[in-house]
Amino acid sequence: MANVLENAISLVERTGEILNFGKRFQGQAIIERLRIPDKVIMFRATVQLDRSGLKVFNCYRIQHSDVLGPYKGGIRFHPEVDTDEVTALALLMTLKTAVVNIPYGGAKGGITLDPKMLSVTELERLVRKYTFRLVNDIGPNIDIPAPDMGTSAREMAWIFDEYRKHRDSALGVVTGKPVSLGGSLGRKEATGRGVVCAMLEAAKDLNLKNFTVAVQGFGNVGSHAALYCFEQGIKVTAVQDIAGGVCNPEGLNVPELVKYCDQTGGVVDFPGGKPLDDIVAYPCDVLMPCAKESMITAENAGQIKAKLIVEGANGPTTEEADRILDERKILVVPDILANAGGVIVSYFEWVQNREGFYWEEEDVNNRLFTRLRKAYASVKETAAAKKVTLRQAAYCIALEKITQAMISRGVQ
Ligand code: GLU
Repeated sequence: MANVLENAISLVERTGEILNFGKRFQGQAIIERLRIPDKVIMFRATVQLDRSGLKVFNCYRIQHSDVLGPYKGGIRFHPEVDTDEVTALALLMTLKTAVVNIPYGGAKGGITLDPKMLSVTELERLVRKYTFRLVNDIGPNIDIPAPDMGTSAREMAWIFDEYRKHRDSALGVVTGKPVSLGGSLGRKEATGRGVVCAMLEAAKDLNLKNFTVAVQGFGNVGSHAALYCFEQGIKVTAVQDIAGGVCNPEGLNVPELVKYCDQTGGVVDFPGGKPLDDIVAYPCDVLMPCAKESMITAENAGQIKAKLIVEGANGPTTEEADRILDERKILVVPDILANAGGVIVSYFEWVQNREGFYWEEEDVNNRLFTRLRKAYASVKETAAAKKVTLRQAAYCIALEKITQAMISRGVQ
């Protein structure tokens, strides 16, 4: 996944040029300080299997920057997790928290594994090992993990429970916990809902009415984005997961599709639609890439029919594809803005844990949408003022903010 890391770093470098950092902060090594993470933690976890034997896993926690607050970011379980991927995702977290103005830095964790290959008890042992090894590196004021691809509230509960065996009980050590354990209402749905909120802002700007949406990826982000579209009366005409896709120009019944997925494990052969091979080229107004990195590339960017792309995944568009989309005048709402709903509600969860006062789901959603709309408006304003894309504008805002804090803090 070197590609994603190179993409992210080269965007940071180009943003430094747009902002004239070389002159403005001469000798301050701003970009150099962002190019390399603060700390790379890589270790091995050996787990006893249920039947017999041991299995060894590569584990990571990469703390990219804590200039704006404690490190923050999810933990990914996926067979393709490696140092470059986790580093890139940690850098994106630093930028994301800055652009939506929450008091955190950026980090990311991961274990190279297919979680489906382990039993629940094996997974629990692995997560506890992972947490134990990181017990000095995480904490409510140090580094706060959360769910990402392949992990959910269940794993966050194990992290919380293992951490409290070794340190003072602290609910805020991890976010995305089950509601019964101090998790926030609306956290699970937050990323998907945020993607829809960002889409609605952009659709207004493009004057899109009665538009159709295609969702690539039907994990936590894609399914909740699709569900929220459906609840808002927005037609979701196509959905694709790793095994295949389904489409219906009249609009898919998303709640039925979610039920079908729960029963069968995927969207393929859903009776409420027709099979679909390639969602990227599907005729629709809005495309939401909610799967993983580098799904929109130089090869398929030319085939996109949508007028608007809203990035639910982290890093779904390669640099070359971005250029093609810009030339084709397809508006892209970048990941660090569009999918920030998850970390925003993680922040709300952390605040609720500190206060011991829990909010209604409606409050959570209202505060989430207010923050996202505000962030969208400032990105749009910067894009217009600097005549750059929304992605470059979001990077400009994040880098300005991080740099001001770096300079104020002195050399770290
Ligand atoms: N994994 C999510 C992301 O990439 C959420 C991170 C968090 O809540 O800390 O934004």
